[in-house]
Amino acid sequence: LANRMFHPDDTVVDVSGVLVGNDHLTLIAGPCSVESQEQVLQIARDIKSSGADLLRGGAYKPRTSPYSFQGMGSQALDYLCEAKKETGLPIVSELMSEKHIDEFNDKVDLVQIGARNMQNFDLLKEVGERVKKPILLKRGLSNTYEEWLMSAEYILSHGNPNVILCERGIRTFESYTRNTLDLQAIPVLKRLTHLPIVIDPSHAGGKWWLVEPMAKASVAAGCDGVMVEVHNDPESALCDGPQSLKPERFDQLAKSLRALKNII
Ligand code: PEP
Ligand code: MN
Repeated sequence: LANRMFHPDDTVVDVSGVLVGNDHLTLIAGPCSVESQEQVLQIARDIKSSGADLLRGGAYKPRTSPYSFQGMGSQALDYLCEAKKETGLPIVSELMSEKHIDEFNDKVDLVQIGARNMQNFDLLKEVGERVKKPILLKRGLSNTYEEWLMSAEYILSHGNPNVILCERGIRTFESYTRNTLDLQAIPVLKRLTHLPIVIDPSHAGGKWWLVEPMAKASVAAGCDGVMVEVHNDPESALCDGPQSLKPERFDQLAKSLRALKNII
């Protein structure tokens, strides 16, 4: 179902009115985690004025350490809904467990499956069967294109046809950066599949100053969208501060990405 050979036309996924995979470059921005009502509302206003299309925000967080901030859960989704009501930006958040599917169907516009759950096959089946919203499927930390597409296939074959792929960097021997952004994923996936592809340069590099050059390179390579972490006060962020852009920098980035998209 994901194979370009049997579906030659590009798929365009409708995220509550935002079309992902058409000629418009989709910009997704927001904090790694929702930390308070004021925080998410302020960031939502800022990214909206910079021309973002979708607001991201973590509610249930897949943290390496059980002692790290785990996210505000249900309350975070309510804060995101408030921010959506004010700004009109549809929301993206990560689903970690089938327990929360009903809640996500009610409140979230684009349901993210994180890198660590890319091969959680039971979750993928449930998502295919029961999630009524489109899915943003991140690439696993060390997964091949074939494995990633097979995970998409789980969702598609279980009944949800709206899948967007997200490259977020893979593990390599390099430890200076958090992960290594695989730019080749863009042209390779464009050849193998009709599904849209979004790039997350924040989790790839792990450093805010890598976001701009890698986002530009991704647009130049033909991605359908870019997802960036934006925080009003990165130094005090509860999660992923070092890779988060301040709103002013996101504003600059959004302008340059739009300009770049226009000339390619
Ligand atoms: C995230 O988007 O905040 C996240 C946890 O991403 P990943 O699953 O790619 O690590
Ligand atoms: Mn993050």
